[in-house]
Amino acid sequence: MFEKILIANRGEIALRVQRACRELGIKTVAVHSVADKEAKYVKLADESVCIGPAASSLSYLNIPAVISAAEVTDAQAIHPGYGFLSENADFAERVEQSGFVFIGPRAETIRLMGDKVSAKDAMKKAGVPCVPGSEGALPDDPVEIIKTAKKVGYPVIIKAAGGGGGRGMRVVHTEAALVNAVNMTKAEAQAAFGNPMVYMEKFLENPRHIEIQILADQHGNAVYLGDRDCSMQRRHQKIIEEAPSPLLSPRIRDKIGERCAEACRKIKYRGAGTFEFLYENGEFYFIEMNTRLQVEHTVTEMITGIDLVQQQIFVAAGEKLAFRQRDIELRGHAIECRINAEDPYSFVPSPGKLTTFHMPGGPGVRIDTHAYAGYVVPPHYDSMIGKLITHGATREQAIARMRIALSEMLVDGIKTNIPLHADLMADAAFHLGGTSIHYLEQKLGISHK
Ligand code: ADP
Repeated sequence: MFEKILIANRGEIALRVQRACRELGIKTVAVHSVADKEAKYVKLADESVCIGPAASSLSYLNIPAVISAAEVTDAQAIHPGYGFLSENADFAERVEQSGFVFIGPRAETIRLMGDKVSAKDAMKKAGVPCVPGSEGALPDDPVEIIKTAKKVGYPVIIKAAGGGGGRGMRVVHTEAALVNAVNMTKAEAQAAFGNPMVYMEKFLENPRHIEIQILADQHGNAVYLGDRDCSMQRRHQKIIEEAPSPLLSPRIRDKIGERCAEACRKIKYRGAGTFEFLYENGEFYFIEMNTRLQVEHTVTEMITGIDLVQQQIFVAAGEKLAFRQRDIELRGHAIECRINAEDPYSFVPSPGKLTTFHMPGGPGVRIDTHAYAGYVVPPHYDSMIGKLITHGATREQAIARMRIALSEMLVDGIKTNIPLHADLMADAAFHLGGTSIHYLEQKLGISHK
């Protein structure tokens, strides 16, 4: 087992990984930007290294700086968290070439899945059902593009092959708007992801976002740890997640879960990963695979009792999975609300000093946050300041616990989306078993673009 792990991330996930390491008796190295130097989790780590200025392009995305930090501290492995370098195949390669273990899949797997066109292609071959759309990337020829859209049927969605974080997508309803939309998405994709390649999918009008968590070791074993429903979204970004999906029967869950585990065995996947699907009229459509820990991994942990971060570490150290599929039992229901420093209805970020920060508690309540009273939310990074997770024997109990927890939670000094979460926990459609991915924007009167 490793003696020391460097955590190449910030915020709540840096603290989450640190806790997993400390429980296993592994020393931790925190790397941080100048803006995060006072963060408590940086002080709690066994060692810390400043890797650059506030701008993430110069610090958390600075590959040589992260690798030098591992060298000077003699860390043996690097955990990338989520976001930043976590799905950067070049980073994974450089980490391993420098003699460290990358806690995640092999660089070639990250590369394959990081390009959504090649990922869909690989999944089709592995027998995973995909959203109907263009065969691979769209050509430049406008006539061909129009032909493809006719075949797929409007509305269609144009998506960047290199996209992520809900960016690089555009819905098109008519032929008149098509070619222009494709060109605009291409230009944006080039600017944001350095790759102008785009592809087309049928835009599903009423789907749920359902994903399957998998875990695979380096010895050919792969299991699935149930599903998560992440349909409550705004701007293609999740804000509430739950496990299991209230929509799926155990039989359907097991069927799709086993398909995903089998695909992992086929592509020799290693570590934790997530297959994301849209689910409509009883059919699953693969949209992408995330080759890292997800923000919402917590709800899976609550219903399986399995610590996913520790499992990632065991797999990276070469250990065999300690359980088989039949040992995995889903218990009760868990919900996560992402607590963001933002206006609850316009989503405009609201950084600044937390003057009050009072967290709830009680049975079945989990809080993953690096924030505290007096903490200053920096303006440079993602607006998420923490995650509130509740677990109950039933979905009703998890919702009731979430309502109470949200009512106890006090955060002042900045705006947060706590009022929106409180509204949604009282929402009739959510209570009845959840909603489609477009529901929240429709409820708030935002048209999806
Ligand atoms: P990202 O990598 O940016 O998260 P995804 O491909 O996972 O992109 O899609 C994110 C979200 O965008 C989905 O959860 C869904 O809300 C919406 N979306 C993506 N593809 C489609 C589609 N074909 N039809 C309708 N909505 C879609």
